[in-house]
Amino acid sequence: MSINQSDYIRDIVSAFKKLPGIGERSARRLAFYILSQNESVAYSLANAIKDGKQNIKLCKNCFNLSGEDFCPICKNTSRNSKLLCVVENPEIIYVFEKSGNFNGFYHVLHGLINPLEGITPSDIKLKELAFRVEQGGFEEIILALNPNSNGEATMVYIQKILSPYNVHITALARGIPIGSDLEYVDKDTLSEAINYRKNFG
Ligand SMILES: [Zn+2]
Repeated sequence: MSINQSDYIRDIVSAFKKLPGIGERSARRLAFYILSQNESVAYSLANAIKDGKQNIKLCKNCFNLSGEDFCPICKNTSRNSKLLCVVENPEIIYVFEKSGNFNGFYHVLHGLINPLEGITPSDIKLKELAFRVEQGGFEEIILALNPNSNGEATMVYIQKILSPYNVHITALARGIPIGSDLEYVDKDTLSEAINYRKNFG
């Protein structure tokens, strides 16, 4: 194998290794798999990632990923405009929508307060959340955050900043094991957690 060939392979392996949950062996396996397929497999993967990255931005209202200024959920007038579900990242919206059990709107924080990593309230979309609630219309704010210490800290903070407003704050029921990632919870557990949500605070 020439130096060049191995450099190309090393680049692909190290690109895969940057993905969550992918270690050296998986990265190597993916790289060799892609290279052994015909061009269309590799190019369609590369192009899908490139097109998505170039065209997807954040919804100006809820900060979900969106191909346009406002996401399809925010533009959907048949949803329940009294319910606002606060989530950590856009992937959780995807899980909720797949469960088909929630018909309100969302707000994506893009992170949780994390003192150990220096993530403060101003680093995530909390001001924007208070602004939306201040505009009025929402009656219930559902905190659908991971039940770990950062999730708890963020929920307590949200409760504080929303206290001036006349909204009911609830949190998902604890069908979800402590410390588990909402992304990996199956849709039935998630449906149950939202159906049996509890008052927060
Ligand atoms: Zn939106």
